[in-house]
Amino acid sequence: TLTTTTPLADDVRAALQACGVDLSVVGGDAQVASPITGEPLIGARLDTVADIDAAVGRAAEAFPAWRDTPAPLRGQLVKRWGELLTEHKEHLATLVTAEVGKTPSEARGEVQEMIDIADLAVGQSRQLFGKTMPSERPGHRLQEVWHPLGVVGVISAFNFPVAVYAWNTALALVCGDTVVWKPADAARLSAIAVDALLAKAVSEAGAPKGIHQLLLTDADGSRKLVEDPRVALVSATGSVRMGREVAPAVAARFGRTLLELGGNNGAIVAPSADLDLALRGVVFAAAGTAGQRCTTLRRLFVHSSVADQLTKRVVAAYESLAVGDPREDGVLVGPLVNQRSYEAQQAALAAAREQGGTVLAGGDRELADAHPDAYYVRPAVVSMPDQTAIVHEETFAPILYVMTYDDLGEAIALHNAVPQGLSSAIFTTDQGEAERFLSSAGSDCGIANVNIGTSGAEIGGAFGGEKETGGGRESGSDAWKAYMRPSTQTVNYSGQLPLAQGVTFI
Ligand code: NAD
Repeated sequence: TLTTTTPLADDVRAALQACGVDLSVVGGDAQVASPITGEPLIGARLDTVADIDAAVGRAAEAFPAWRDTPAPLRGQLVKRWGELLTEHKEHLATLVTAEVGKTPSEARGEVQEMIDIADLAVGQSRQLFGKTMPSERPGHRLQEVWHPLGVVGVISAFNFPVAVYAWNTALALVCGDTVVWKPADAARLSAIAVDALLAKAVSEAGAPKGIHQLLLTDADGSRKLVEDPRVALVSATGSVRMGREVAPAVAARFGRTLLELGGNNGAIVAPSADLDLALRGVVFAAAGTAGQRCTTLRRLFVHSSVADQLTKRVVAAYESLAVGDPREDGVLVGPLVNQRSYEAQQAALAAAREQGGTVLAGGDRELADAHPDAYYVRPAVVSMPDQTAIVHEETFAPILYVMTYDDLGEAIALHNAVPQGLSSAIFTTDQGEAERFLSSAGSDCGIANVNIGTSGAEIGGAFGGEKETGGGRESGSDAWKAYMRPSTQTVNYSGQLPLAQGVTFI
């Protein structure tokens, strides 16, 4: 039941096979279309409600054995997975490009992030540290120990179809949890390949088979996962709209959530900024990945003394960006993921115009004749008189709203005035200004950068944002703690029974 087109579909079939996927079991009704041409690639299976229930059941059943496996041994499984991801980097990148339209360079970068987090998780597997605290009672020891949580449900977004899943899964596995993954509808084939590589690592390591489960389902199926009381933690990446549905559903059963939701990222360009550097930082952050990163730069606040100069240069750079099939040499901006995304981009530009904005560059659809079912747009630069209603929204497309400011305090206030709080940046050579932006009175985001754009984080730091971005932190630093439960333990070796706070009883 395979429906294919060439040559994209041929590349995809070859990449899947190279990753050990049996193509005879891939075929199914859920067509995955490539945003590059709009043509169907290979149909994938669609799981039923009963399949979802069974998959959670298998993950729950596998948990005790995995929990009881020493963490450094769990790390060895992730180490092997990381080796397989390295070996198949090019195959996985091919799938990411075909399914979500990233340039090969960005697709490889995404797979590299998976390899990086696997490395980090292997080290972490020997460092699941708990603290020991001095007890106030003689002959007592007070300590915390971090225990595995249980089943972790990972829901991922189309725009980082495999990396964000790997951030969660590599850490969850070393932490002793089992994982049920619901990938984005647009990216089922890369999910099948990544899962096949994990299956290979699991089998080689002799780990319990059930510790990873792949659910190929839509948002309705995903809701079943969210509501299932056997799922201890739901780690969900996607829009604020999705988070608004997921968070209360999990809270209603007192489960845990780790939310990585939408961003509406801003950058300030100060009068002292190195404008060459700012230009490159701005253009990569705003137009890269066709504006479809959660950390994409969407709001630019430029000091009025340099605004004309910088804006002209950004416009010129935008006009020279090669938009098109991301597999072609020199192309930097691929397609939007689908027609809905294009309609949202057009609606946002219309709203911006209505709200007093002027489109200085881009915004129009391109290549419609060659690819009527694919949606390419030239990234847009829009000058706004102030931060109007549309600028408060995340439109998941390459639209950069430019505003001017005179006073840094005013710029920081405007920067923080949107509901989202993911990533932020300032371009300045004035240390005082940089420190002010990084301080608690500065950017209110989870990520704050100086002389770097808003996108392109490394996995070593914790990743995530505040306010409507959901408050979750993933990948480096202490993010592993979200996948474990602390047990506070008091051991009395005194032979007496002194009570805390000096309380007396029998
Ligand atoms: P989306 O919200 O449409 O879907 C994300 C995932 O959630 C998909 O797998 C989808 O099937 C599932 N889903 C949707 N509604 C659901 C529900 N009610 N219950 C359970 N699951 C549900 O997002 P998208 O279009 O795939 O991705 C783009 C969005 O993701 C943007 O808003 C972007 O900023 C955000 N994003 C955030 C981060 C981050 O780390 N903060 C990273 C990547 C993407």
